[in-house]
Amino acid sequence: MSIKSKVSIIGIGNVGRVVAYSVAMQGLAHEVVLMGRNLDFARGQALDMNQAAAAMRSHSVVKVAEGYEDIKDSKIVIVTAGQPRKEGMSRDDLLIMNAQIVREITREIKVHAPESIIIIVSNPLDVMTYVALKESGFPKQRVLGMAGILDAARMTHFIQEKLGYGAGQIRVSVIGGHGDSMVLLPRFTTVAGVPLHDLLGEDEVEELVQKTTHGGAEIVKYMGTSAYLAPGKSAAIMIASILKDTKHIYSCSTLLEGEYGYDGVVNGVPVMLGSNGGEKIIEFALDRCEKKQFAHSVESVQSVIESLYEKKFFE
Ligand code: NAD
Repeated sequence: MSIKSKVSIIGIGNVGRVVAYSVAMQGLAHEVVLMGRNLDFARGQALDMNQAAAAMRSHSVVKVAEGYEDIKDSKIVIVTAGQPRKEGMSRDDLLIMNAQIVREITREIKVHAPESIIIIVSNPLDVMTYVALKESGFPKQRVLGMAGILDAARMTHFIQEKLGYGAGQIRVSVIGGHGDSMVLLPRFTTVAGVPLHDLLGEDEVEELVQKTTHGGAEIVKYMGTSAYLAPGKSAAIMIASILKDTKHIYSCSTLLEGEYGYDGVVNGVPVMLGSNGGEKIIEFALDRCEKKQFAHSVESVQSVIESLYEKKFFE
């Protein structure tokens, strides 16, 4: 860990708060900065988190940003700002709205924390990661999107639930974009080293894949709002890897430059995380069917990015 580590979180909604709380509770950073639109709410959150950190005897201190200048010297900036879809709003309207939010925030990060590593959480995840990459001009190692850790964790839970054992020993592999086109890889999924296919039948595995793909919607159905504990924790796992320079490998959204046979597209693939951000992309040897699924995923993310170009979003 660097001498003094600072993590800033832009957007103090459900997910942003869990990211901040996780970082402070684990003492991952010396300073956690909350940047929200409602200053008093951020102040209240910071007090609550600081008191929790004090109870935990964590050395992390949570501060409130009065303006973007307060994110200066952040090692990592997490972007969890976004608008939920409102009545009468199309997916396209929401896309443009969130793209504008991420663009504005990225421009501020570029000015005030030019050496930082940006982690995007806002949806649509892979497209927003592309927006941040393009607007920041940062090297691709320093602009990553969080989704794969969450998607893998969801399938991990469903496998444990189905088997009734294996908690803590299940390793799920996932690539692809965040959403319906995610590509779960049962062939590279194990329970205590045993291939999943040795423990469950083809139909059972497919059922778990479908359940995972719609795992977010299931939570919305119950709570009326989207998940935030597992997403926030997943982002904190990326932060821990970078700050501790663990070189752990997680599926993250990143720019592909030749890997998996694609160039100039953003999608989820295994990335080694260390103090420089996404330090290396790891390639699975995909079979024909997996390659086809991944191609579909790349295409669906690309078509949304292209729609932003058609709308002249990028100047
Ligand atoms: P939320 O509505 O609780 O929080 C969003 C916050 O963003 C709000 O506090 C809002 O005030 C703030 N905001 C909006 N515009 C802003 C701006 N310009 N500057 C600063 N703050 C701004 O939503 P949430 O549940 O916390 O989700 C946040 C985002 O993360 C959403 O886009 C959601 O779809 C996405 N998400 C992604 C994943 C993933 O796996 N990548 C998982 C869950 C949620």
